[in-house]
Amino acid sequence: MNAPARTRVAPSPTGDPHVGTAYMALFDKAWAVRTGGQFVVRIEDTDRNRLVAGSEQQVYDSLRWLSLEADESPEVGGPYAPYRQSERLETYRPYVDQLIEAGHAYYCWCSSERLAQMRAEQQASKQADTGYDRLCLGLTRDERAELPGFSETPVVRMLIPADVELSFNDLVRGEVRAPMPDDQVILKADGYPTYHLAVVVDDHLMQITTVVRGEEWISSTPKHRLLYRWLGWQEPEYAHMPLLRNPDKSKISKRKNPAARLLWFREQGYLPEALRNFLQLLAYPPAAGEQEVSSFDEFVADFRWSKVSTVGPIFDMKKLDWLNGVYIRALPCDELADRIVEFALASGQWAEVPPAGREIVRSATPLIAERLVTLADALPKIGFLLTPDDQLVVNPDAVAKLGPDAGQVLDAASGALADLGEWTAAAIQEALRGALVGGLALKPKFAFAPVRVAITGEQVSPPLFESMVILGRDSSLSRLTSLRAAL
Ligand code: GLU
Repeated sequence: MNAPARTRVAPSPTGDPHVGTAYMALFDKAWAVRTGGQFVVRIEDTDRNRLVAGSEQQVYDSLRWLSLEADESPEVGGPYAPYRQSERLETYRPYVDQLIEAGHAYYCWCSSERLAQMRAEQQASKQADTGYDRLCLGLTRDERAELPGFSETPVVRMLIPADVELSFNDLVRGEVRAPMPDDQVILKADGYPTYHLAVVVDDHLMQITTVVRGEEWISSTPKHRLLYRWLGWQEPEYAHMPLLRNPDKSKISKRKNPAARLLWFREQGYLPEALRNFLQLLAYPPAAGEQEVSSFDEFVADFRWSKVSTVGPIFDMKKLDWLNGVYIRALPCDELADRIVEFALASGQWAEVPPAGREIVRSATPLIAERLVTLADALPKIGFLLTPDDQLVVNPDAVAKLGPDAGQVLDAASGALADLGEWTAAAIQEALRGALVGGLALKPKFAFAPVRVAITGEQVSPPLFESMVILGRDSSLSRLTSLRAAL
């Protein structure tokens, strides 16, 4: 049995959340739940130039949407608060001083111009070592001020020893070897810590036991491990997850792939449970054998880091569409209808619920549930039920395809329905069949087409007779008459 784990996801609020944040959160939460531990959200907002207002809230909202709520976060608080790095600034400084004191870190006054020039020269001379050249190492401020490229406000750099340990053990990958690091800046000129210092200090103080993050951080891990050692702290375990990839195998990015935006899935009308299941299957085998549809609880019950594949999983939207359909059809119809309404309002399909809109959607949902891929598909299919009769737009292409006897059909249909006793799908069907197939001797395939176009405005629609029941007799008759008049 594993000791209770404390895991965290540590997004930077620099834009709307990346799907990778949810992916990490899923594995973080799974491990925390599996071991009876806690899952923490920490906001890494020390890069003040890149902050985007609102993106922190989007992180909480989208994790809640996916039922991946944190046990501790800036939003819900917790015993290790504050969980926002910008509110912990005084926490980091003493450790910087301690590292300088011990000779593990040093001030660097090099201006950004000098650093740019140094890099250009390194590149031009094609030298292998492209790190900081340590011009400032061992110098006092005044000594350094004599030399060119001096900046008044120094940064603090780690002094990476030549024998830094480059290999470490990873829960997913086993032994991993990272490249030799540079003298990493840990405190910026503005007094803010860099990610590398803050992540170590916070993971330690928040007693994080398991650092789950993307494989792009493997190269930073030796630096982090040095900081743990220098500060005399127990190291966490590491799980570096594979990068999510576009179908062309490139790293998934917001620029190339709209699905890199976590909010995109919600905007498109995917169900959170389907997205969660989809993320669960990225680089992780299906629960039992080939069983791809599985709940979070099933995922947790048998969760093991060794099952994570290191091959960057490809975003297969067909799989997501399929899963979404499975979850849509698993919902009770009324709940699905409510989600369709919620989606319509959130996405702007509806500015507000139209008269009787909720009831109409509830009645119509059973007619369309089978064919839905996303929630966004629903309203366009049943728009004709929500449109006042005089505003129904009849597709001219659908009208053009009707046969020469369409007028006659519509007249016969109106006649058969005007005095129909009960207004049920079966009664409507029987009456129309009698009048059109029986009376006019039309083939069923052609008989109902003019009626469908009149009622729905389209050649293809949800089941016709059931739709007419929802519309009611008056509307149905009025639509038959309108198309008749327009022919
Ligand atoms: N702020 C980092 C990110 O957004 C966190 C990396 C980590 O989990 O250590 O990727």
